[in-house]
Amino acid sequence: MEDKRSKVAVIPCDDYDEEKVYISIKRGLDAIGGIGSFVRSEEKILVKPNLLSAAAPDKALTTHPSVLKAVFRILSESGCNDVITGDSPGHGSCDGAFKTMGLTEKDIYGARFTPMNEEVHVEYEDGIACREFYFCKEIIESDAIINVCKMKTHALERITGAVKNVYGFICGYRKAQGHVKFPNDTVFARMLADIHRYTKPRLHIMDGITAMEGNGPAAGTPVDMKVILMSDDPVALDTVYCYLVDLDPELIPTNSQGMRMGIGTDEEDKIDILLCDGERNRSVTKDELFKLYGNGSFDVSRSKPPKSFLNRYSGIMTRLSRRPVINRDLCVKCGICVEHCPVPGKAVEFKNGKEKPPVYDYSKCIRCYCCQEMCPRHAIKPGRGLL
Ligand code: SF4
Ligand code: SF4
Repeated sequence: MEDKRSKVAVIPCDDYDEEKVYISIKRGLDAIGGIGSFVRSEEKILVKPNLLSAAAPDKALTTHPSVLKAVFRILSESGCNDVITGDSPGHGSCDGAFKTMGLTEKDIYGARFTPMNEEVHVEYEDGIACREFYFCKEIIESDAIINVCKMKTHALERITGAVKNVYGFICGYRKAQGHVKFPNDTVFARMLADIHRYTKPRLHIMDGITAMEGNGPAAGTPVDMKVILMSDDPVALDTVYCYLVDLDPELIPTNSQGMRMGIGTDEEDKIDILLCDGERNRSVTKDELFKLYGNGSFDVSRSKPPKSFLNRYSGIMTRLSRRPVINRDLCVKCGICVEHCPVPGKAVEFKNGKEKPPVYDYSKCIRCYCCQEMCPRHAIKPGRGLL
């Protein structure tokens, strides 16, 4: 990325009233150059929400329909009439997720739903972490992508925001394999940065009106943050999300690796935060922003990674590290965690028969948290302690 300052617009918005959300998103877009500076009317545009799985909007798992409707409305008003929308959830269908959130064709201003279930193999010679991808065909066929992500926590990467949301560009059933190929938070983040480098989404909009804290990205707790963020720089946007929840942006692998790989910046002095409240937009510092709209008790992992000398004692660190744990009282023995564990030979299995909850083999577990993400009963949480 050339040496320029990245603009991140922060627009306070109290709730999901459709008109309020529309006005807020329009105002934010105008603050960073207007929709016309990101897409042209003759282009085929993909609007990519976070549709992790089928869930009612108030659960805060998915981008809220009011945010999506506002984006479709703005695109339609700008003369963009070749707009598609979809995602490739790891579990269930995109169609099911849209239906559950109550979004129908009449709500999307002439845009079209697309299933994102056909893949295209792509070689990427310039890839740093990854030189081939299996993208959903819509990713390749679109001229421009608008990434409409959700402000949530994430067991592997601590947060999921603009950088992480592009993992939905990969066809759903391939996602688990990606965790085996990129088995820790750092290499996984580098692979995500390569997806950004290849696909170059033009604009990132974050639904942070009701965010998810705690056991995200699927089983956390909705929490009002009352903001929408937007930028053409996904790392800067996620960095401002960190400022709002009092989290060191450098702790987030998608920020640190994203910056190293040139998809954006997490450096405070290279980010202009444009606060769009009151009569006029104004630039604010991260401290001013936090004072006005921050939430220091947002439940997210703020622990520092172990010091490098401790890594030498890797046996001890492995035994002390975070790992998924099943709450036996919540588990209904459905086996979805076993099905989605990507490790050959499975790191979670019904060792004691299907009448009892599955059991982990932590010596095989790569801590990808696919099991935690997919558990429909929210029975799996990251835990810590001696194994
Ligand atoms: S997915 Fe959840 S509920 Fe189903 S078996 Fe695994 S832990 Fe139990
Ligand atoms: S047990 Fe869970 S966290 Fe461990 S490798 Fe399997 S899916 Fe990933």
